Amino acid sequence: MKRIKLFEIILIAFILGVIFGAFVGEPAKSLKPVGDVFIKLLSMLVVPLIFTSLSTGVAGFDIKSLGRIGGKALVVYYVTAIIAICIGLGLANISGVGTGIELGDLAKIEPLEAPPLITVLVNIVPDNPVKSLAEGNMLQIVFFAIILGIAMGVTGRASDPLRKGLESLANVMYTMVRFVMYCAPVGVFALISWTVGTHGVKALSPIFYLILLTYAGCAIHIFLVYNVILRFGAGVKPFEFLKRIKEAALFGFSTCSSTATLLVTMRLCEEKVGISKKLCRFVLPLGTTVNMDGTALYQTMVTVFIANAFNMDLSISQQAIILVTALLASIGAAGVPGTGLITLMMVLQSAGVPLEGIGIVLGVDRIIDMARTATNVLDDAVALAFVAGTEGEEFAEGVRIKKVKKS
Ligand code: ASP
Repeated sequence: MKRIKLFEIILIAFILGVIFGAFVGEPAKSLKPVGDVFIKLLSMLVVPLIFTSLSTGVAGFDIKSLGRIGGKALVVYYVTAIIAICIGLGLANISGVGTGIELGDLAKIEPLEAPPLITVLVNIVPDNPVKSLAEGNMLQIVFFAIILGIAMGVTGRASDPLRKGLESLANVMYTMVRFVMYCAPVGVFALISWTVGTHGVKALSPIFYLILLTYAGCAIHIFLVYNVILRFGAGVKPFEFLKRIKEAALFGFSTCSSTATLLVTMRLCEEKVGISKKLCRFVLPLGTTVNMDGTALYQTMVTVFIANAFNMDLSISQQAIILVTALLASIGAAGVPGTGLITLMMVLQSAGVPLEGIGIVLGVDRIIDMARTATNVLDDAVALAFVAGTEGEEFAEGVRIKKVKKS
């Protein structure tokens, strides 16, 4: 008899969660604490795992390869993010989403002062790495882990005990991830029932079109843009690749946290796709921190949506500002539920679009967050595949596109 896989159980839990939430409605919110515990179980592993895997991953490379790989990763992160933003702008402009929407009584929202770029850059450098670890400040942790990794590599054999210790901690973290995975069906069921139960059809209907367009935009980005990058950039079979990491997308979709999902993405890319440990451990944590196509796509779309709702015409220069700020906002957004909405304020403010518009989308942000987080998660894995493919990595059996030899 065929053994039922954990992924299938999680999928069944997901479907049951949708049915249960739709059936029970509001009271399903009592399940939220169960979902919260599940997200916490994943999140508690994130800081030690990012720190240990990134530092040991980096230590495995010499400076030249590190620069080349980091450079490639950054190029693919931002090329795809700009394309995502253009898809968002294009779909929103063509569809005119938001025009004629009922504004009702929108509460005044206090603008969020965006910190100047120079402050953001200065703050990447931690003054106390222990504090950064305790506070979970991802950019600072990533910075310190990269420097530590480089230093271990430069120190050479004398750093072996430290490297082995960190590697061992990373491996233990992976085992803990496996334990947490067994709780996934319950966690996913609770999160989905709560989402469907509390965001019923009534809440969705006024902005149903925006939700639909965001999902369509994310789907276009995944099945068109990522398809092309995987096929022609990484040299892998796009659907085979996506099939092997589908569990990560489902996790992102259910938890709305690409950081919590990082652990799942890493395991799948190593075990199912066959990408080397050191590449996974360098490119994925970096991507989770600074690379969010789904968030960028949504932020541009919702900015045009709010402008249309307020009968504003956005000029070309305003749209260019949206492009740049959405890119920066997605870099700054942490991979936890709802942060995309907070950094959205920065985009709205820079483009001169009323912040009060956030009130229209606030209630259903979770539904939209699901699609953008799943996209963010796939985004990191696709960038990793691109780097791995161009670095000549082997991949697992059946993932690479076989070259037909000409006779
Ligand atoms: N929830 C998203 C993530 O974790 C961030 C966002 O709110 O857009 O990737």
